[in-house]
Amino acid sequence: HQDLQKLKHKTLKHFWGHDSFRDPQEQVIDSVLNQKDTLILLPTGAGKSLCYQLPALLREGVCLVISPLLALMKDQVNQLKFRGIEAEYLSSELDDFDAEVIYNRCKDGLTKLLYVSPERLTNIQFLRNIEEIQLSFIAVDEAHCISEWGQDFRPSYQNIKDFRKNHPGISCLALTATATPKVLDEIKNKLELKNPTIFQKSFKRENIKIFCEEISDKYQRIFNILKFAKESGIIYVRTRKEAEQLTEYLHKKQIQHVDFFHAGLTTSEKNSRQNLWNNSSNHILISTNAFGMGIDKDNVRFVIHFSPSPSIENYYQEIGRAGRDGNASYAFLLWDQQEISNFDQILKNQIPNKTEFEKIITYLYSIFQVAEFEMPEKVFQLNTAGIQNFTKLSAAKIKNVLNFLHTQEIIYYNSNKSLSSLELK
Ligand code: ADP
Ligand code: MG
Repeated sequence: HQDLQKLKHKTLKHFWGHDSFRDPQEQVIDSVLNQKDTLILLPTGAGKSLCYQLPALLREGVCLVISPLLALMKDQVNQLKFRGIEAEYLSSELDDFDAEVIYNRCKDGLTKLLYVSPERLTNIQFLRNIEEIQLSFIAVDEAHCISEWGQDFRPSYQNIKDFRKNHPGISCLALTATATPKVLDEIKNKLELKNPTIFQKSFKRENIKIFCEEISDKYQRIFNILKFAKESGIIYVRTRKEAEQLTEYLHKKQIQHVDFFHAGLTTSEKNSRQNLWNNSSNHILISTNAFGMGIDKDNVRFVIHFSPSPSIENYYQEIGRAGRDGNASYAFLLWDQQEISNFDQILKNQIPNKTEFEKIITYLYSIFQVAEFEMPEKVFQLNTAGIQNFTKLSAAKIKNVLNFLHTQEIIYYNSNKSLSSLELK
């Protein structure tokens, strides 16, 4: 055991020059070395490649890597060769002779990693040759390509299932940066991963606290928040008119450090407003979703949504503009009765008899399913009776629903009375 420990580190240092593994590379490698089906969900740049490349060197036989793009394969193989690792890829660009050479090197146990496209798994010549090659394990890179839900759906990824059936006993490592539950389930099912060990590193933004509030007088509520807010923020509204009206209201209430921003402004107006905001420590922009792309401001302390974002991806992106400096930050999602009753229509899968709170949570769930958030530790329902712990109130089903919330707590606030303890300080 200790020898293996040493061997892993030595290999890492020798071929890659790294001194240590990143979390959770080493555990993934152990799982692969133990011939377990394994699934890893890690953000781009986390270092997934090493999780199959290193065990490929330590295991006997050839690791078959399934990759969606020739450019990716070439890049990886070049890097591996540069490090002195025997790796090859098969592509239709190669003539029969080149392919023959590669197959022979695999049969002789010289090649440690063989990259192929999913299409190749049904190629007769490939299948004939593979019978004479000892495989160590299968690595499926960009495994979300197997999911019909994603944008990268690649039907030929479904070939992997049959290939696995015909090569029983060979374990599989699936790798992806997409972690929505639907996609995850599809990967598990379609690759027929048996009791897989799953490694997942969260994409969470722990410093953003989400307040989800049902409120009839949103203007008043925003005014209350801004009285406490001493730092920069963004307020997202749906229309240009809303942006202008809210700005006017706040100016009348003596809150002067706010401006509106929308696509109707001239380029120079937009630039000057954005610059002012960028360089200020307390300026607030009230904006349609015209504002956002390329924002790189560290100290955005809060993002208020005057209405729920029409797109889930937008919502995640928009609140993600808060707290880039890592300091505690706030997202306020404001609702009114009308928006809540429209809600069932927004959701494709209607679930009848939901309380309004559950509807909102379901909406948030769909937001965070996309956003890959984690379950918050606490979800509070606030009403005139006080604070109730939502996780205690609701069925386990709803708890699952919260599985992907990326915040420590969600506060649902359904009274128009302000609670001073919850005001932004
Ligand atoms: P992913 O496939 O998860 O997007 P890659 O496998 O392409 O990520 O790796 C991203 C970068 O991280 C590469 O430049 C790689 O060299 C580097 N890297 C991976 N593992 C380590 C490590 N243990 N120590 C230092 N750098 C690492
Ligand atoms: Mg990768």
